[in-house]
Amino acid sequence: MVELQDHNSTEKPNWCPGCGNFTILKSVQKALTELHCEPHNAVLVSGVGCFAKLPYWTKTNGFVGLHGRSLPVAQGIKLANKDLTVIAFGGDGDGYSEGGNHFIHACRRDVPITYIVHNNGVFGLTTGQYSPTSDIGKKSKSSPLGSTERPLNPLAVAIASGATFVARTYAGNMSHCVDILTKAIQHDGFALVDVIQPCLTFGKTTKYYTERVYYLDDKYDPSDKSIAFIKAVESEHGQKIACGILYRETKV
Ligand code: SF4
Repeated sequence: MVELQDHNSTEKPNWCPGCGNFTILKSVQKALTELHCEPHNAVLVSGVGCFAKLPYWTKTNGFVGLHGRSLPVAQGIKLANKDLTVIAFGGDGDGYSEGGNHFIHACRRDVPITYIVHNNGVFGLTTGQYSPTSDIGKKSKSSPLGSTERPLNPLAVAIASGATFVARTYAGNMSHCVDILTKAIQHDGFALVDVIQPCLTFGKTTKYYTERVYYLDDKYDPSDKSIAFIKAVESEHGQKIACGILYRETKV
């Protein structure tokens, strides 16, 4: 019997009050508990960023490595011991810029790990520089006149790169986070979960996201790759952000 407290660390996170990382941390612990995964059977791997301290604050095995490099380490761990539950973490800065190449090839490779990306649209740890998912015009220390770069669409990239499980959830809704993470961990292949996360200090507000996030219902068919791509691209218009499992390949 695995209890939620089995995954708790005695150390306390030092994230800003109200940061979405708290929801993601608790959701991971709840998902592992629901799946009866004992702490010694899970490995959490991260890189660099505010999010990257997450393995410090769980009782599972953890590995904190280089910026954007959690995926090669996580895939290696899984290949060495297929019985472990391996979860890699990235940030939109860490995972989609420094780790962009690893991300594409992990989608193609389909090693059965879960990749959780804390997507808040900024490099939070280094005080809010624009990231690959920042909007055009984002003003920051590194873009005082506003970013001129178009934002990356990570879900569309994942679908186009061959990922077999592509989902988005919202850190403002813990029960949805737990549900999606549980299904991602159970998926027999590479599972991307992009978690929309307000950065209350440097990024967009909770109000911005809650006005745009909506949830895919039971009528949505995640096996249709064309529809999944349309849902992924929809968020680029800035008005609607679909959350749920956008694409899942059923394996025979
Ligand atoms: Fe969270 Fe942003 Fe604070 Fe980092 S800077 S801990 S991402 S609220």
